[in-house]
Amino acid sequence: MSLHSIMPIPRYKDIVDLLKKGATVEAQEQIMALREAALELQEENLELRQRVKELEENASLRRSLVFRDGMYWRETESGSDGPFCPPCYDNNNKLVRLQYQKGYMSARGDYKARPYYRCTVNDCNFHNRA
Ligand SMILES: [Zn+2]
Repeated sequence: MSLHSIMPIPRYKDIVDLLKKGATVEAQEQIMALREAALELQEENLELRQRVKELEENASLRRSLVFRDGMYWRETESGSDGPFCPPCYDNNNKLVRLQYQKGYMSARGDYKARPYYRCTVNDCNFHNRA
């Protein structure tokens, strides 16, 4: 997100002076510039509010996470939610639910009944013994 460069805002006094001199066209131009500046500030204000909300949500999420058994868990009022993938959260700030797997196929093609947690995000190969 890029913030707008602040353009100089016409001064109210200058507009009044222009009107007193009868320079209505110039005054009108200044009023238009003032209006434009107000709209830009309104837009920037909205972006900043959204950014603050985002940061507050991130901070609140971070406070609710605990690291246990090599994975993240989210402590909520209704109990512990999770587990979530550590690399995904630590590197990309994404809370990705880990999938419980009952076992896996070995390289030789036989089934191993050894439970583990797996991250399904493509570039993340996090596995953890259940
Ligand atoms: Zn992951």
